[in-house]
Amino acid sequence: MYWEKELETLPEKELRQLQVNRLNITLAHARRSPFYGELFGRNGNHPESVNDVKGIESLPFTVKQQLRDHFPYGFLTLPQKEIIRLHSSSGTTGNPTVIFHNRHDIDSWANLMARSLFCAGVRDTDVFQNIVGYGLFTGGLGFQYGIEKLGALSIPAGAGNSLRQIKLMRDYGTTAIHAIPSYLTRLYDVFREEHLNPQKDTRLRLLCIGAEPHTEEQRQRIQEMFGVKAYNSFGLSEMNGPGVAFECEYQNGLHIWEDAFLVEIVNPDTLQPVPDGEFGELVMTTLDRQANPLIRYRTRDITRIIPGACPCGRTHRRIDRITGRTDDMFILKGCNIFPMQIEGVLMKIPEVGTDYRITLETVSDQDTMVIDVEIKKDCFRGDLAFLDKLQKRLTHLIRDEVLVTPVIRLVEPGSLPKAEGKAVRVYDTRKR
Ligand code: ADP
Ligand code: ZN
Repeated sequence: MYWEKELETLPEKELRQLQVNRLNITLAHARRSPFYGELFGRNGNHPESVNDVKGIESLPFTVKQQLRDHFPYGFLTLPQKEIIRLHSSSGTTGNPTVIFHNRHDIDSWANLMARSLFCAGVRDTDVFQNIVGYGLFTGGLGFQYGIEKLGALSIPAGAGNSLRQIKLMRDYGTTAIHAIPSYLTRLYDVFREEHLNPQKDTRLRLLCIGAEPHTEEQRQRIQEMFGVKAYNSFGLSEMNGPGVAFECEYQNGLHIWEDAFLVEIVNPDTLQPVPDGEFGELVMTTLDRQANPLIRYRTRDITRIIPGACPCGRTHRRIDRITGRTDDMFILKGCNIFPMQIEGVLMKIPEVGTDYRITLETVSDQDTMVIDVEIKKDCFRGDLAFLDKLQKRLTHLIRDEVLVTPVIRLVEPGSLPKAEGKAVRVYDTRKR
């Protein structure tokens, strides 16, 4: 069952040919923007068109800083009259980045989103509650347009206010939800506080989770809490937002929509392509965007192409879940550490609750890693020997994973500060 059978199951050779055709159209669009016009015009070595997908490697990369430096209109290819929407990042750390869309771009994105939802099993009979922020954040309107295109009943709930979310779910018989994983675990806690059980007291049948890194262990937990499958949804605002890559019923990696995006995985240091199966930085080129095409955009997300065909029959290749971003890796005592390694250890331990926080600090000139771990309520019933054992166990398990001995602090459920949107996992207060 496919949303667009022919496109989703296009044989490899035809898919590559479609990509080449669309890439050449994209290059022509890109040249109309001040940034690429200058970049390609200045250097005669950049070909106007390519003959095969490998030809992309003769073009330069685009990085986030360039989007910032040429804010707001430097990447725009069309007069403002033809633009119908923009999405932008919050810009708390400098110039925001902005992506503009014309009608074609919005239609194309809505279609990718509908295809993604269908791929995960959402149907027009579903009642779909979208529990993420609307507005400039792409997860709100991105899903909204896709749900509507698919024909399901949409509830544009927005983020936060868990009691209201639960009421909406019960009033309207919500069957499907989209939310960020760190929020869903909190929502579950509120269900429990209200003496409700999402498995008995709702009609939920599937979840879409994404927008922030999370481990397979975290996904398993969420699935157990809600008693339904949780499908991984990947996207980034520079590539529209959600609807870039999505899991199918097999949950064995995310199909990345190759008619709309050209995918490369490169070694982040050498920028050379890595073979299929190896991890590296995801680099993407838009193939179906007119107002704001991006060429070889370095996403900073670490993943790999999963070799082999998917039993669902879709020919678009699969990427692995994002293990982290090149910029959220930290180095402590010479060891490279990704927060998701720590989450992977914690979420396997049944006594561990829903939240954790990593703080890097300098104590008497020594850098250390303190991990505050929320522990389930029942574990705080006064048995100090038990807590002591648990703390030692976590210390050893994490040391084995990241090769640095952490300081583990067990804290009560709900005691760690919650981010408004995506979870913030690492606080770095080290002296430089
Ligand atoms: P920001 O870059 O400010 O976080 P975006 O909303 O564009 O803004 O976030 C996109 C980023 O979120 C991706 O580049 C990736 O790092 C992360 N992300 C999105 N979806 C997932 C997912 N399913 N798994 C892991 N990380 C994800
Ligand atoms: Zn599949």
